[in-house]
Amino acid sequence: MAQIIDGKAVSSSVKEEVAAEAARLKEEKGLKIGLAVVIVGDDPASRVYVNNKKKACEAVGFQSFEYALDASTTQEQLLDLVQVLNRDDRVNGILVQLPLPKHIDEKAVIDAISPDKDVDAFHPVNVGKIMIGEYSFLPCTPAGVMRLIESTGVDITGKNCVVIGRSNIVGKPQAMLLLQKNGTVTICHSKTKNLKEICLNADILVVAIGRAKFVTGDMIKEGAVVIDVGMDRDENGKLCGDVDFESAEKKAGYITPVPGGVGPMTIAMLMKNTLTAAKQQAGIE
Ligand code: NAP
Repeated sequence: MAQIIDGKAVSSSVKEEVAAEAARLKEEKGLKIGLAVVIVGDDPASRVYVNNKKKACEAVGFQSFEYALDASTTQEQLLDLVQVLNRDDRVNGILVQLPLPKHIDEKAVIDAISPDKDVDAFHPVNVGKIMIGEYSFLPCTPAGVMRLIESTGVDITGKNCVVIGRSNIVGKPQAMLLLQKNGTVTICHSKTKNLKEICLNADILVVAIGRAKFVTGDMIKEGAVVIDVGMDRDENGKLCGDVDFESAEKKAGYITPVPGGVGPMTIAMLMKNTLTAAKQQAGIE
């Protein structure tokens, strides 16, 4: 039976580190740290994410500035707000909650955020930095996955790492981070042939597809580290992951549950990126 990787506990320790560092910087340098969160429209899931980000800011001692804009906000209005936030010294990090309403070009908005305040690490400058390994910010979800793998004590060097999913926010940067830690990385997607055989060769398997319980125990190598990024609904409407936990935990060495695995890590890593942004803007190493 697999050991469960406790994402809540690992995320709490990341937030504690961030809170301690933020308190020290406030005390010693008078540094106040602020995150601006922009939400357009009233998507209930986005609302929940934004509230959780606000709560996390409070917990680590950051100021949060919330901009809740009407669904009818134009792209120009949103770009104007981003420019205002780029110039606002109280704001160290800017997060625009995705998805945006269809009439707004997400790429134009991401490109408008100053790379120094891009705590989601979605701006092309930050994406490029990840490719060459000279980054300041890591994308929150893949960075959270790395912390979870680290928490198992399993060394990535030389391991067969398989990432299922090639999105810009999860799969692709995840593969790069595993590569930088000397994993031998295979990226799979919807056109991949022999997915089961590839997965059966994975010492470390990261699944980010968006399909409930898609990866089953018979696709998992005995003793593998299995990280489930998926946030899906099962046939009863209950939150579940991309991995069929019940069959997978019988084969895996370590496994993340959903909920309580990757989810809590994403916000913790956002707090870490905001701290990094504030330090860089203040010229503190
Ligand atoms: P996405 O943009 O929809 O990408 C899904 C990827 O899965 C694509 O690359 C797609 O391949 C691949 N795929 C789809 N069906 C497949 C199949 N049958 N076999 C192999 N690959 C397949 O999704 P995403 O944004 O990366 O998110 C993935 C999941 O993670 C979602 O459930 C999302 O809710 C969750 N998520 C969770 C967090 C968190 O904080 N926990 C953060 C972000 C995302 P193609 O490229 O060929 O289409």
